[in-house]
Amino acid sequence: MYLARAVRCPPHLRATYVEISNYFRGRQLGRLSALQAHSPPVRSFHEFSEKHRSNVTSSEFLDKFKQSMEFPQTPLDIDTLYSHDHEGQSVLLHGYLDKRDDMGKELSFARFYDHTMGRTIQLLSNSQSNTLPQLKKISRGSPVVVRGTVKRRVTKTAEEERTDYLEIALESIQPLNEFPREIVLFGKNIVHPPKHRHLQLRSDKELRDALRFRAQARNVCRETLEQLKPAFVEIETPLLFKSTPEGAREFIVPTRKKGKAYALPQSPQQYKQILMASGIPRYFQFARCFRDEDLRADRQPEFTQLDLEMAFAAGQDVMAVVEELIRGLWGNMMPEPVPSGLFRRMTYQEAMTRYGSDKPDTRHGMEIHRVEHLLPADLVSKITPLTDPIVEAFKMDTVEQLPSATREFVSRFFDSTEGEPFNKNPDGAPGIFIYDEGQPLKGLGPLGFEAAEKIQEMLDLSHGDLLILQARPQAPFAGGATQLGSIRRAMAAASIAEDLREAPPGFEFLWIVDFPLFSPTDASEPGQGGTAGLSATHHPFTAPKTSSDVDLLSQDPTKALADHYDLVVNGVELGGGSRRIHCALTQNYIFKEILKMPKERIDEFQHLLNALWAGCPPHAGFALGFDRLITVMLGKESVRDVIAFPKIGKKGEDAMVKAPGKISEEVARLYNIKLK
Ligand code: ASP
Repeated sequence: MYLARAVRCPPHLRATYVEISNYFRGRQLGRLSALQAHSPPVRSFHEFSEKHRSNVTSSEFLDKFKQSMEFPQTPLDIDTLYSHDHEGQSVLLHGYLDKRDDMGKELSFARFYDHTMGRTIQLLSNSQSNTLPQLKKISRGSPVVVRGTVKRRVTKTAEEERTDYLEIALESIQPLNEFPREIVLFGKNIVHPPKHRHLQLRSDKELRDALRFRAQARNVCRETLEQLKPAFVEIETPLLFKSTPEGAREFIVPTRKKGKAYALPQSPQQYKQILMASGIPRYFQFARCFRDEDLRADRQPEFTQLDLEMAFAAGQDVMAVVEELIRGLWGNMMPEPVPSGLFRRMTYQEAMTRYGSDKPDTRHGMEIHRVEHLLPADLVSKITPLTDPIVEAFKMDTVEQLPSATREFVSRFFDSTEGEPFNKNPDGAPGIFIYDEGQPLKGLGPLGFEAAEKIQEMLDLSHGDLLILQARPQAPFAGGATQLGSIRRAMAAASIAEDLREAPPGFEFLWIVDFPLFSPTDASEPGQGGTAGLSATHHPFTAPKTSSDVDLLSQDPTKALADHYDLVVNGVELGGGSRRIHCALTQNYIFKEILKMPKERIDEFQHLLNALWAGCPPHAGFALGFDRLITVMLGKESVRDVIAFPKIGKKGEDAMVKAPGKISEEVARLYNIKLK
C-alpha cells in the first residue's frame, strides 16, 4: 500500500505535476499569457530605428561599428581565474557589463559576466586607471572586453569569501555593441515573452543550462551507440521526402513543379528500413521529425528523435540496446542510481487493466479493480445506462487522511475544466465515495452493506481515502487510455499539484509490450486510409509477434499481437519501436489484404517494397523522443523548457520569427498554389 507521509513535494517534481495537471485542465497553453503579463514592454528594433532615424547619423554608427570590429582574443573565463592563481596578473576577459554602483566621482564598482554568462566578478574603477568616464558610457548588458589586474577584494560574507573573493582593477574597457537601456533583462517577475526568446535565453541560466545538458546527453548517446559491437553508424536521411500514408498528418512543401510537393518526414522510418536492405548493419540519427498535430504540453510539430535500426535483430535485441542507452545516460548525467537489471515489462492488456493507460505511472499505485460482480444491480443501473457493463474502481489516499479535505479536493476537481468533462461521459459519470469512519457504513452506504465490505477489503480503504467507480462497455481495450485511466492520471497530477499527496520519487522504467497489431480506425487520425476499418497500432511496417500471430492475420487480424514495444517512464512515453516485416510479399499482403489500402496508396510504398524484395534481412528498431527524454531527466515542466526555439500556441507558431508566414500572391503563383 502507498504510505502517506507528511512530506511536501520537491519543487521541481511538483512543477512537473502542475504541468500535467494543467494539461488535463486544457489550459497548458494559457501559461504563456500569464507569462506575458509579467513581460516588460520592449520596443522592437523597428520602432526604435523609426524614432531615432533622424538623430543618429550613419557616420556615427559606422564609426562605432568599425571600432568594435577589432578586439583582442582571450580564452579566459572567471572559473579559470579562480582555479589557477591569477592574483596580481593582468588579464583580458570577454563578457557583458552588469550593474554599476558609483561611489563618488572617482570610484565605481561594477559586476561583469564572463562570456559563459555563468558567473560574475567585480570590476573596480578608480582615479588611477581613469576608466570611469568610459565605464559610465556603457549600458548594462553590453558586450565588452575588459583588461585589468586580478586582486583580492574585501568580502562581507562567508559565501563571498568562498566564491567571490577576487576583483579586477580595471585598466581598460572596450564596448563591442550596446544593450538598449530601455530593456530590463533581469529582475523579479520578469519573464520575456516568446517573441523575445533571445532575451528569455539570455536572462535564464536554467534554460541555457538545459540546452548544454541536452548537448551532453547527445554526446553520451552517440558514444554509447558507437562503442557497441557492431557499432551503430550515424547516417542522415533526407528531410525533403514525399507523402506516404504512414500514420501521422504531414507537412507539405510545395515545389515549382506543377502539382508536385515534398512532404517533411514524420519519421525516417522508411529510409532506415531501406538502409537495412542496403548492407548497413546498424543505423542511428538524431532525426528531426515533423507531424502536423495540435500542440500539447509534451508535443511539438517539429521534434527530435534518437532514431535507430538494427539488421539481423528482433525486438528484444533493440530493447537491450535502448536499456544500455538509458543506463549510459543515467550513469553519466543523473544523480539518481542507474536503473539496474532488465527493465520491467508489462503487456498492453495488463497496463490497461491495472492502470487504464498504455503509459502508466506505476509509482502512484492507485490500481484499478473490476467490481461489477460485487455491486447490487440497482446501483449499477444508477451509475450507467449500459447493460451488462464492466465497472472498475480505484482508490486514492492522501497525506492528511482527512475526509473533509478529500471531499473539497474532489468537488474542486470535478467542477474544474479538467474534471467536468468526465461527468459528461455517455457511459455514466464516475461514482465518487469518501471513506469516512465517522459516517454510517463508512460513507459507502449507497454500495449496500455487502458490496461496501468487500470493496473496502479489496482496495484496503482507510480513513479519508477517495473511491472512484466508473462503468465502461464490455469491449476489448483500444487506444491509449480508458476513461477511468484518464481520471486516475488527472487526479494523481492534480492532487500532487495541490499538495494533497506527495510526488513519488525516482524513475520507474517500463516496457509496454504485446500491443494489438491493428486497432479500430480512429476518424481523427489519418491512419493508412484503408477500407478495412483497421489501422496499424504502431505503423504498418510492424511485424506480428509470433508465428501464431502470423496465422491470425488471415483468421482474425484484430487478435494478432505486434512485436511493438513502448518505453515508458513515470507516465511519459519516451519512445516506441518494433520489429519490422522484412519480406515484401508479407508487407504487401498487410497493405492490400488486411488494411485494404487502395492501390494508389500502396504504390506510394514501392520504394520500400523494392528494398524488402531485394533480400532485406530481418530488422527491428526504435525511436527515443529526445525532447521528452531531456524534459524528464531535468524534471522540467514542458518540452519547451529544453528546446532553444520551441513552437507555441495551438497551431504551433514560432512567435519570434512569426512562422508560419503569409504567402504572397507572387510566391503562390511560383508554386502553383491557389490562395482562397
Ligand atoms: N518510426 C517510429 C516512430 O517514429 C519509431 C520506430 O518504429 O522506430 O514512432
